[in-house]
Amino acid sequence: MTTPVRPLYLDYHATTPVDPRALAEMLPFFSERFGNPHSRQHAWGWEADKAVDAARRRIAALINANPAEVVFTSGATESNNLAIKGAAERLPDRGRHVVTLVSEHKSVLDACTRLERSGFEVTRLAVGPDGLIDLDRLRAAIAPGTILVSVMAANNEIGTLQPLAEIGAMAHERGALFHTDAAQAAGKIPIDVEAMRIDLLSLTGHKFYGPKGAGALFVRRRNPKVSLAPQIDGGGQENGLRSGTLNVPGIVGLGCAAEICRVEMADESVRLRALRDRLLGGLRSHLDDVRVNGSMDARLPHNLHVSFGGVEGEALLMALGDLAVSTGSACSSGSHAPSHVLQAIGAVGPQAGASIRFGLGRTTTANEIDFAIDRVAAVVSALRRQTVPS
Ligand SMILES: *Cc1c(COP(=O)(O)O)cnc(C)c1O
Repeated sequence: MTTPVRPLYLDYHATTPVDPRALAEMLPFFSERFGNPHSRQHAWGWEADKAVDAARRRIAALINANPAEVVFTSGATESNNLAIKGAAERLPDRGRHVVTLVSEHKSVLDACTRLERSGFEVTRLAVGPDGLIDLDRLRAAIAPGTILVSVMAANNEIGTLQPLAEIGAMAHERGALFHTDAAQAAGKIPIDVEAMRIDLLSLTGHKFYGPKGAGALFVRRRNPKVSLAPQIDGGGQENGLRSGTLNVPGIVGLGCAAEICRVEMADESVRLRALRDRLLGGLRSHLDDVRVNGSMDARLPHNLHVSFGGVEGEALLMALGDLAVSTGSACSSGSHAPSHVLQAIGAVGPQAGASIRFGLGRTTTANEIDFAIDRVAAVVSALRRQTVPS
């Protein structure tokens, strides 16, 4: 049996490989340094605790937080649940209203739906055709009873960057807390929880070259001090906010990955933006009717999300076997419903065609981009020729 050649990976929004430098730091904590960081009475525990502390400082440095404000979790899904449900359960006297966006990740939207079932009111703000929040609508939506505004930093499909500093200022002006799901943004673009007035921030290792199953929630400790109701009870780790023995190897990898991103982010984003622009330029030089979904300006440097008119989503997916990308039909007549994000920006309907999300990453080269351009151009042209003109 021969091993099939694996498709070219351009799906870095789904997940990233662990950086070899992070893996090397993690390995000893699986075996020879296996101590429990909560064992206070011997050197095995102290050694693990020291490694966790170092990782906490590195995560804090990435977002300009204090290390004591970093709570380790299993990833962004858990961080989002802890932030949203934890804040709501702790603040019911102040109000029972939460504001979020229709284009948020499922883990935010579903946590909000859960709150609705226990009597909270949730406003899901529409976004513009560019994927961006309307700040006037946000201002109008925040009421005296609003306890939390949850708006993602960067969208996982179309890469749109929301104006965090403006949102933070607006939430605080009205006495609401500001949570941001930064799973796609952390380690990719500069984030400063002080300048942006962020109270709660979710991040996850496997989106920035750290391991899966390791993430964190930033919980502001002063100005204001944010209090959350824990969602996992037990031994009282992480100041009682998240019980359970810490995932030490995962946390060490998370910290190392954060440090690498902090140091390399500026250069890497310039490199990736150039490759991304080369990809769009190449597609447009070969094909007509290539539409970019979401703002081109307020966008992650390594994201491109495009639709091709006159092409059917499923056919595109079938024909693009040598590219590992995320494809979708923007047309709801197919068996696959269009994503809630494409619906939110109105990139749906019979005219919308098929879409591809490209996520570029650390190992992406110009040669790979040129290969992707050739493949997509060939496949889309062929599919369009098959389409009988109406
Ligand atoms: C990946 C992702 C999540 C979920 O993160 P996990 O660590 O996989 O649970 C949440 N929000 C966004 C925007 C994401 O991209």
